[in-house]
Amino acid sequence: MSNSASGNAALAARDLKHLWHPCTQMHDHDIAGKDRVPMVPIVRGEGAWLVDADGRRYLDGISSWWTNLFGHANPRIAAALAEQARTLEHVIFAGFTHEPAIELAEELVRVTPPGLDRVFYADNGSAAIEVALKMSFHYWLNQGHGEKTRFIALTGSYHGETLGALSVSDVALYRKTYAPLLLTPFLAPSPDAYEGQPGESPEQTAARRLGEMRTLLERHSLETCAVIVEPLVQCAGGMRMYHPGYLTGLRALCDEFSVHFIADEIAVGFGRTGTLFACEQAGVSPDFMCLSKGLTGGFLPLSAVLTTAGIYEAFYAEYNAGKAFLHSHSYTGNPLACRVALETLAIFRDEPVLERNRQLAAHLTRRLEPLREHPHVADVRQTGMIAAVELVADKTTRRPFPVTERRGLQVYLHGLRHGALLRPLGNVVYFMPPYVVTETELDQLVDTAIAGIVHAVAGRSGP
Ligand SMILES: *Cc1c(COP(=O)(O)O)cnc(C)c1O
Repeated sequence: MSNSASGNAALAARDLKHLWHPCTQMHDHDIAGKDRVPMVPIVRGEGAWLVDADGRRYLDGISSWWTNLFGHANPRIAAALAEQARTLEHVIFAGFTHEPAIELAEELVRVTPPGLDRVFYADNGSAAIEVALKMSFHYWLNQGHGEKTRFIALTGSYHGETLGALSVSDVALYRKTYAPLLLTPFLAPSPDAYEGQPGESPEQTAARRLGEMRTLLERHSLETCAVIVEPLVQCAGGMRMYHPGYLTGLRALCDEFSVHFIADEIAVGFGRTGTLFACEQAGVSPDFMCLSKGLTGGFLPLSAVLTTAGIYEAFYAEYNAGKAFLHSHSYTGNPLACRVALETLAIFRDEPVLERNRQLAAHLTRRLEPLREHPHVADVRQTGMIAAVELVADKTTRRPFPVTERRGLQVYLHGLRHGALLRPLGNVVYFMPPYVVTETELDQLVDTAIAGIVHAVAGRSGP
């Protein structure tokens, strides 16, 4: 079967002839040897599983880049999408509207933290960040504060890869090359608990980092529009986690110094951290909340920026005052995507999703516990349905494996050979499965990851 015109080998060869993939050194697909990365053609998905063109199955341990919530090809969402496609596929969203966009805005206002009453759509996560940055700047401009042109971001943060979103990101892999093109934010040290001082609790780390944020704001708040953070988990930066107290303190600091609080819940929203939104765990409402990824259950690209009535009002004026917010994408408010997002939210209403996730998360905690003893594991951490294992060369000093050794890649390749999609971020092996995963499937995922870790840390440079 693998030699057929529609098998893995044939599709991979056709792919590699014309396609250019994201986040990929294409050379990795063409080399021989143990570091060769296969191009895997997927023909079908069902539940937590992906099926390739040779009929091999992969348990999707990372929800296909953190997008999927209720399983691949979820029949309920698929049916809603098909019906919408037969009714209205798209319409210009300036001067025109439609019920899926209206109803989705109503639902988002209802389920997000209090005070977020306005919804602006875009079509991917990075675009939502661009919208939030521009809106924050423009709000201050409309209020007579054109001197506010800067942003504060956290070290280790990731907010996307378009130029504005990349500007407020601090993951060297993505940012370094393009730095000459970017805005320069002020960087505040992340409250990341892994980087805490010895003997310090996550709460104490958060408090100390708030002190440093205060110092930065004392110096720069007059020129600063907003502070942007990934609430509770800095995902692409290595699934680094921090105490919710940081968000509570940050809310107070933003109020005290008159800067906006932008919560990027693109990855952590929709239940990943145990609550529907991560901000809930700190009891805070941001000035802007960016949503995407899980918003459509992993079906279609869509994003939303929620903001307050107060911010909206600063743009609301007679036409020639020139205060309108200018940002448009052709596919803004796409009806198919909105309809699919509505069905996703309906599943949250109809099924005890967060309750079931609590059990799954507890199971994951138990299964990962033994890894703490592993000689190359420095940290096992978890926030709700996100769990991560930090691999190091030396457990006592926490000296990382050199990135050039690509240990994580060996875990990825081991996973593929054993029916699991695990895609470590450097030396961080993480789990962010779709919510339809079963405990048995989680066992399988963890067992494969552990075997992959053992395989990856063996050989080459030692401890
Ligand atoms: C993925 C991600 C983005 C960017 O979303 P895209 O749709 O990939 O552009 C922004 N912020 C966070 C926290 C993300 O994880």
